[in-house]
Amino acid sequence: MPELKGTEPDKWYLVVVCPKCLKDIAFAEVPSPQVEPNHRALGVRLTCPGCRGVTSFAPAEITRRQGI
Ligand SMILES: [Zn+2]
Repeated sequence: MPELKGTEPDKWYLVVVCPKCLKDIAFAEVPSPQVEPNHRALGVRLTCPGCRGVTSFAPAEITRRQGI
């Protein structure tokens, strides 16, 4: 899973919170809730860009947020 180079304020992203350093990690761009109300994220394993810790996240831990 590639890291996003940056985020834009008007776009929506799948976001998890690193359990080690509590940094928000946006890892994928997704459609807005208006466009796709029932988007379901799969679990994902990510390297935190803040502390380099590797964590597996369950679907319930993944939120969709705009422009973080
Ligand atoms: Zn971290």
